[in-house]
Amino acid sequence: MKSTAVVGALPKASSDRATSSSEAWSPSARKSWERSEVQALFDQPLLELVFQAASVHRMHHDARKIQLCTLMNIKEGGCSEDCAYCSQSSRYETHSHASKLEDLENVLEEARRAKANGSTRFCMGAAWREIGGRKRGFNRILDMVREIRGMGMEVCTTLGMLTAEQAQQLKEAGLSAYNHNLDTSREYYGKVITSRTYDDRLQTIAHVRDAGISVCSGGILGLGEDESDRVGLIWEMSRLPEAPESFPVNALVAIPGTPMEGQPPVQFQEMLRTVATARIVLPTSIVRIAAGRQMFTESEQAMLFLAGANAIFTGHRMLTTPTSSWDQDRAMLERWGLSPMKSFETPRMAADELAHASRDTSSFTKPCGSSAGSCGCASSASTQTASETHPAPATSSAEAA
Ligand code: SF4
Repeated sequence: MKSTAVVGALPKASSDRATSSSEAWSPSARKSWERSEVQALFDQPLLELVFQAASVHRMHHDARKIQLCTLMNIKEGGCSEDCAYCSQSSRYETHSHASKLEDLENVLEEARRAKANGSTRFCMGAAWREIGGRKRGFNRILDMVREIRGMGMEVCTTLGMLTAEQAQQLKEAGLSAYNHNLDTSREYYGKVITSRTYDDRLQTIAHVRDAGISVCSGGILGLGEDESDRVGLIWEMSRLPEAPESFPVNALVAIPGTPMEGQPPVQFQEMLRTVATARIVLPTSIVRIAAGRQMFTESEQAMLFLAGANAIFTGHRMLTTPTSSWDQDRAMLERWGLSPMKSFETPRMAADELAHASRDTSSFTKPCGSSAGSCGCASSASTQTASETHPAPATSSAEAA
């Protein structure tokens, strides 16, 4: 059985797991999955699946670390898309109202607050189909990215569909990651969204990847999909040219006024099964528990961490839905012997930060007389920034794009 092969080697202790090796996030660390293999993993007795996932998790991650991410809605509501779960679509009568793009200073203040409270990734979501011709707005977002990256935080945006040129501009501004969810399986997608296609989404993800930005892409449970759709989503992720560095898992928060308002809450066991399967199929990705986390008890959240989830969204709001506070989440982590991840702590993010620091300093000479990067100066600078140590999405909770 495939699952046996996945955990054929005993996991190493956390202290000597692969976090110091670039191989931990190398595409070469991947295997190719048949959809039936992912389905077989998913269908195992639940605790057997969790055990395997926990074992794989320890081979590729420090299982004691959880990343705290904060997501700010920088432009709410009025979106022309028809995502059936989203309160921000202009097609539905919901509590959400259209706002203008936030001022730079308001966003920076929120990012400083998030950083002071221990968040190491700051994400910004704008409710629109695409940036399109919003040149001034896009320039303001580029400023937000530059400033927040300059604070030593990982910075992520979810701004809808992107062109290759826009992705490149975001990269140059210092964007660490871009969130663009596939939401569900290809075959169920049309029951949720009709205003853009699955392939449109894959195209944006390709532009993000080509620009050298980390990909954050996941899905939403509770849309009325069945188990094979959850498997289909994970399988699609495994088929991308490179696995997403980040896989957010949202549980639908049913918003009155949306077509999904009557959907029953997702069962915890379904959430756990999905997280555990994703951990095995996407072993090096950060698996983020996103919208809907508050529906689960603390013990249930701890079980998700055991099964390989290693990031949460915290603060006071996640786009349009409330989330638990930094104080509550730090206390929760402490009770379970977990600690917050630093910025740029994963090998992929560390490499990105090093390259970013090298770019920033390559035009001048370091005090030691060498060019940045050739003697470790850039590395040191990177470490200082990194020591301070993130759409994904929820729309209404699940996604902003
Ligand atoms: S999920 Fe994003 S793209 Fe879809 S309606 Fe909501 S804001 Fe618009």
